[in-house]
Amino acid sequence: QKQLSDRINNMTTSQTLAMAAKTRELKEEGKDIIGLSLGEPDFNTPDFIKEAAIQAINDNYNSYSPVDGYVELKDAVITKFKRDNGLTYNRAQIVVSTGAKQSLANAAMVILNPGDEVILPCPYWVSYAEIVKLAEGIPVEVPTTVENNFKITPAQLEAAITPKTKMVLYSSPCNPSGMIFSKEELRALADVLVKYPDIIVVSDEIYEHINFVGEHASMAQFEDMYDRVITVNGVSKAFAMTGWRIGYIGAPEYIARACNKMQGQITSGANCIAQRAVITALEAPVSKIQPMIDTFKERRKLILSLLDQIEGFKTTEPEGAFYVFPDISYFFGKTIKGHHIKDATDFSMFLLEVALVATVTGDAFGNPECIRLSYAASESQIEEALKRIKAAVSEV
Ligand code: PLP
Repeated sequence: QKQLSDRINNMTTSQTLAMAAKTRELKEEGKDIIGLSLGEPDFNTPDFIKEAAIQAINDNYNSYSPVDGYVELKDAVITKFKRDNGLTYNRAQIVVSTGAKQSLANAAMVILNPGDEVILPCPYWVSYAEIVKLAEGIPVEVPTTVENNFKITPAQLEAAITPKTKMVLYSSPCNPSGMIFSKEELRALADVLVKYPDIIVVSDEIYEHINFVGEHASMAQFEDMYDRVITVNGVSKAFAMTGWRIGYIGAPEYIARACNKMQGQITSGANCIAQRAVITALEAPVSKIQPMIDTFKERRKLILSLLDQIEGFKTTEPEGAFYVFPDISYFFGKTIKGHHIKDATDFSMFLLEVALVATVTGDAFGNPECIRLSYAASESQIEEALKRIKAAVSEV
């Protein structure tokens, strides 16, 4: 479309949303599709949070909030960072945004100049590369594989650094692989980064609470890194609040001020009712969401045991989030039920059309050997989906 800007014409459509659209289309044709493609909890927002939102409406929270968030919400974020992460931030270091997605977009927009390189350990969340490109940065993908648990090594990080490197951006727990950097692993990466003081780290910790292996570690916990880290978090995943659209950062003050300036011209701040509700969410003890995390843990066990019974799926045990990311390159070059599979995108499409199960191709995450299955679905859906997948690939 020549009337549209290069900016939008060069942008890739989110593959997860594209898969959701294709799924909807097939459903409308009457096909019984099981969706394992979406990255959102299949729970409702807890009642105590909903009640706080209703109260906010009745209390007439209907005007513009401060651009960077209500003071009470910033204080709740400060308390959360201290309580859960041992991180100390003051109000001037906190910016509340319209989802962690906007927090990430703000970070890219205020840090990157055209041509600056951003190191993205693969696999990475779909939007990272597009957000970087929108800010005229250059994504630099660092590959990992199922064999090394999808973890980049300090040597790989160092090899990817050039004089143009301005940022390193990763999620831990990781969407899509479920890997979690331990404190020791983060320290080893930090040991490389301390040699390059101009590089900013964006640490996306939105899956923090969905952790099955132990303590969550943050890059900003290291004193020698604190001044260069933007810690991104939000309520979408932990509190089943994807549609409420609240995310936030803790960052060096000059970066927080820049993000505030950026969103002051773009959104004027996040939705006021959602912000009030999130104060209540963040003040709640983590034990309130434990049942949800326990459920994800059970489902992880179930999906892993079912995947284990299907030849051609090579899987790691995800340590967090609610995805499995099997390597399915075994199927490349094969023809199954008349469908020739040359890559992960073909395989994901094959599963949709033949098994009627929606997944997402690893191509979307910078890892073309894998597909992502979300287990934010009921146990019966997971069982049925895996039964169908097993049957679909049984004639290889
Ligand atoms: N970061 C990661 C790794 C995600 O998976 C997602 C959502 O899928 C987000 C950020 C965005 O979250 P939000 O809903 O707060 O914009």
